[in-house]
Amino acid sequence: MTLQDNFGRRFSYLRLSVTDVCNFRCNYCLPDGYQCSEKEQPLTLEEIHQVATLFARNGTRKIRITGGEPSVRRDLPDIIRTVANIPGIEEVALTTNGWKLPQFLPEWIDAGLTQLNVSIDSLDPRQFAAITGHDRLQDLLQGLALAKSLSFDRIKVNAVLMKEHNGDQLPRFLEWLRTTPVTLRFIELMQTGDNGGFFDRNHISGESIRTDLLNDGWEPVLRKAHDGPAQEFWHPDYAGRIGLIMPYSKDFCSSCNRLRISSLGKLHLCLFGEQGYDLRPYLQAGSLTQAENFLIECLTDKKATHFLHEGKSGATAHFAQIGG
Ligand code: SAM
Ligand code: SF4
Repeated sequence: MTLQDNFGRRFSYLRLSVTDVCNFRCNYCLPDGYQCSEKEQPLTLEEIHQVATLFARNGTRKIRITGGEPSVRRDLPDIIRTVANIPGIEEVALTTNGWKLPQFLPEWIDAGLTQLNVSIDSLDPRQFAAITGHDRLQDLLQGLALAKSLSFDRIKVNAVLMKEHNGDQLPRFLEWLRTTPVTLRFIELMQTGDNGGFFDRNHISGESIRTDLLNDGWEPVLRKAHDGPAQEFWHPDYAGRIGLIMPYSKDFCSSCNRLRISSLGKLHLCLFGEQGYDLRPYLQAGSLTQAENFLIECLTDKKATHFLHEGKSGATAHFAQIGG
């Protein structure tokens, strides 16, 4: 049985955060860098195994490992291998800022990685450094070249659109896509607890991009039954595809197909929701049946939509906390 909510949405996709630590300082996420505080440790490998088993038993087929920056965990290859070996899990994806891609990609693939999302908010090295706090664009591009040389082609590139910081980059991204066979997903900047003023100055609606793409001959990719909220487009003259993630668009939540677990083992029903439902006591007690009952009960609380349009971004201060 696949997990289902009161609105008939089914959840076969889990975003699993394995740390909230990050080594970048993206201006929209952690502008002052990661702030270390005395607190609980992230999920252990054993707890990750239990979470993934719990969800797999309830119909999850794809798990995305995220963070913070997941590659700051030395045991990331073990995490990937653990998740990939759980019966029922067909896809193990990773979202990363890419800083360790050239060093570790072969190991991650060997461990069972099937899909990779790399965040590249600008193709201009100086702009990239200004956004992330690190002059690492060349490393990331080298990582993508390595992926190509290893014939690993399940790659998506995420770019958050920001009026004042990369609003001029669309033509450059498009030019890049002519010859680069990746899916480039433009993500609308989302408001979180910490980035209110930044959001007001920088939010760009994906709708105008969508209109321009359609006018320029880009075609919507046919959607399959359980596709998530991203809209994808292809063009015969381009090697790459474009995806648009527009959380402020009408009906965005109706295709929600994902649940989230934070690095501390809290279930989040929505990126913009509550403080989270604590699964960890059940994991630590080793009781998967109790965890399962708790999970199914929590799911009845999932709301039809987020409340972003009312300016309510929920309890999430920044996405490094919950994995985006
Ligand atoms: N550190 C990894 C990375 O940056 O890819 C994984 C975690 S990050 C929180 C996951 C995704 O969320 C990234 O693509 C990032 O650009 C995106 N993100 C973070 N804050 C955001 C915001 N306020 N609005 C839109 N996307 C955001
Ligand atoms: Fe770190 Fe990712 Fe947030 Fe950037 S978006 S600060 S890389 S967690």
